Amino acid sequence: MSAGPAEFSMGEFELIRRYFTRPTPRAALGVGDDCALLNPASGMQMAISSDMLVSGRHFFADADPHRLGHKALAVNLSDLAACGAKPLAFTLALALPDANPDWLAPFSEGMWALADEHGCELIGGDTTQGPLTICITVFGEVPRGEALLRGGAKPGDDIFVSGHLGEARLALEARLKKRYLPLEVLARAARRMDAPEPRIALGLALRGIASAAADVSDGLLGDLGHILERSGVGATVQTELAEQLLPAYAAQALVPTGGLACVLAGGDDYELVFTVPPALRSAAQAAAVASNTPITRIGQIDAVAGIRLVNAQGDDVPNTFASFDHFVP
Ligand code: ADP
Ligand code: MG
Repeated sequence: MSAGPAEFSMGEFELIRRYFTRPTPRAALGVGDDCALLNPASGMQMAISSDMLVSGRHFFADADPHRLGHKALAVNLSDLAACGAKPLAFTLALALPDANPDWLAPFSEGMWALADEHGCELIGGDTTQGPLTICITVFGEVPRGEALLRGGAKPGDDIFVSGHLGEARLALEARLKKRYLPLEVLARAARRMDAPEPRIALGLALRGIASAAADVSDGLLGDLGHILERSGVGATVQTELAEQLLPAYAAQALVPTGGLACVLAGGDDYELVFTVPPALRSAAQAAAVASNTPITRIGQIDAVAGIRLVNAQGDDVPNTFASFDHFVP
């Protein structure tokens, strides 16, 4: 659709009606009233999480709007995945510099496509003029007491990670011109950074199997660290197992330095890191197969606090890999 002058004069409510209002067959009440209403199913708990994306902070100002719509919802659904919750609904709070249909149409399409894939209904939000900021709150459901939490890891548990890690960091470094990547490598890595796939099916399959779980948004060691802290335990991570999390095409681009830093400290991957009691190792493998999600064992939970990195020979590897923190330069 062309952005004629009439389009730009669209008001707040016209904008909401046009781009962010669709039927909500499952919610009791969707967009249009002061509150939305959900009907909690009996025996279920509601899992709720918010994530905010700020222009210039979480994405480049000229980011592709279709991918941004996808990503804004994806990072929120990733939190539901980490809890083993099934997506139900979400709200969208938007600050927009202007009401530009050329941005709003693809943004909403990217968001709707992922929402439809997961049966997640947009039930409300807020819209205001301001520097581009996207804040989504997701609502999911999980049978009472079955949510995957960060606090349940026990010494002896295996540590697993889903899918692949490191590509998003690689793409970021290339875009910031800190690293050169061949074009086709950058395109592939950038797809992971711009359009992550939340691991909902795996999260659901891990209920009753994983003793603890978190999603990897700020870097593996940092997010694993949250599990360890909450559980009052430590971990040994085998670097040669962790290194396998970087796909071969990306590893090739990182010869000779290797991809360990991207895997251990790169953020924006939205995979799951989770722990599994030894007796449930094969159940975890079966959950991975059932949810069509590869998983890799990278180490073990210890009783002693902290993360130890060891190489294939069992020698200590110095841990110089810092995760992302908004308030630490
Ligand atoms: P109020 O002033 O009562 O908070 P608003 O006028 O901000 O309500 O919004 C009107 C309706 O539109 C509400 O139901 C609200 O949830 C919904 N809404 C506002 N912005 C969005 C958005 N970006 N996406 C979806 N729904 C929205
Ligand atoms: Mg409002």
